[in-house]
Amino acid sequence: MSAYETLAKRWDAVFMRNYGIPPMAIARGDGCWVWDADDKRYLDLVGGIAVSSLGHAHPAIVEAVSRQVARVAHTSNLYINEPALALAERLAGLLISAGGSDDVRVFLCNDGTTANEAAIKIALRAAGSGRRRFVAAERSFHGRSLGALALTGKAAIREPFAPFGIDVTFVPYGDAEALAGAVDDRTAAVFLEPTLGEAGVVPPPAGYLAAARRACDETGALLVLDEVQGGIGRTGAWFAHQHDGVAPDVVTLAKGLGGGLPIGACLARGRAAEALQRGDHGSTFGGNPVSCAAALAVLDTIERDRLLDHVTAVGGAWKSALEQVEGPGLQSVRGRGLWLALQLDGEAAGRVEAAGRDAGFIVNAVAPDAVRLAPPLILSAEQARSFVDALPGILAAAGAEAS
Ligand SMILES: *Cc1c(COP(=O)(O)O)cnc(C)c1O
Repeated sequence: MSAYETLAKRWDAVFMRNYGIPPMAIARGDGCWVWDADDKRYLDLVGGIAVSSLGHAHPAIVEAVSRQVARVAHTSNLYINEPALALAERLAGLLISAGGSDDVRVFLCNDGTTANEAAIKIALRAAGSGRRRFVAAERSFHGRSLGALALTGKAAIREPFAPFGIDVTFVPYGDAEALAGAVDDRTAAVFLEPTLGEAGVVPPPAGYLAAARRACDETGALLVLDEVQGGIGRTGAWFAHQHDGVAPDVVTLAKGLGGGLPIGACLARGRAAEALQRGDHGSTFGGNPVSCAAALAVLDTIERDRLLDHVTAVGGAWKSALEQVEGPGLQSVRGRGLWLALQLDGEAAGRVEAAGRDAGFIVNAVAPDAVRLAPPLILSAEQARSFVDALPGILAAAGAEAS
């Protein structure tokens, strides 16, 4: 029995059934490479779902986390800890320099879901009793807790747990008119991803986020942008919404922010920044110094190594090269920076993922007909090229043209 088979058997015996049995076990990583439990090496083009922004075992993360865990690992929010404070200052500064007013405040939490939960409470507090409605997008993903799930536009994962006690109107993503029609003076907030992540890296049409901003301004609703997947450099900008020239009231972050350590953040400006009153919200682990030290190392490294420019250059060249691939069953490539999706002709994404694994590449079947690429931001041009070269063979092995 392989090491994987032994682990898979143990997994199947003890874990709840919500994930199924994963098809591989990752034992260790270095940069953009990972090794499975049987010591086979892969190029990691998923990065733990857009999380491992500096790759694996990056010296800056190892150093920052080791130093902080040896100093103090946890304080709670009963006390000030400087890594959390420094991180909040840095994040506020990034949002201010992205444009819009400079009255930004920060709430630190543990992941994307808790960042969106904070945004929901901010919206309800800022709105008052007459405005309890939300508008969100069909096919969106905002998390699995009952609040974040209520805003998630995927019926298959939402409906089994409905109703939620949160009044949400769903509109087709990218349709500015439908959005404007759904927002009124009873709307507390509009929740949008700057590009749909879990629906398959689907960017909105030009002007869509700006139209959402206008609809909010005209009615007094807050614009909440969920940058959990797209934020912190993934598109070549600190925030994906910077490409659209809009200034949201609330931004949520997580995934790549911690470079592999769990952390989330909710950033708000103006009346949204002032909405939560003492006692309104909290988190035991939010602002955890070890996670904050990791996030500071991520921000420092992105700046020091000019990774935003790197992502723009490598991602742009990668997308062009992938578009030239004459592989069977490959229809188009979408996305920006190091956040791309291969649109297939048929529902072959699961087979492409498996064939990629056989060929030594980790990719993600994000939808039945789409394969997501969200590698570490340090992916080199040569590594990107190696996947382009391998892709025709992967598509052929997957029988991608067959369905
Ligand atoms: C992953 C994701 C979430 C949920 O984040 P968790 O860290 O899993 O709680 C929320 N919104 C978006 C856009 C995401 O991609």
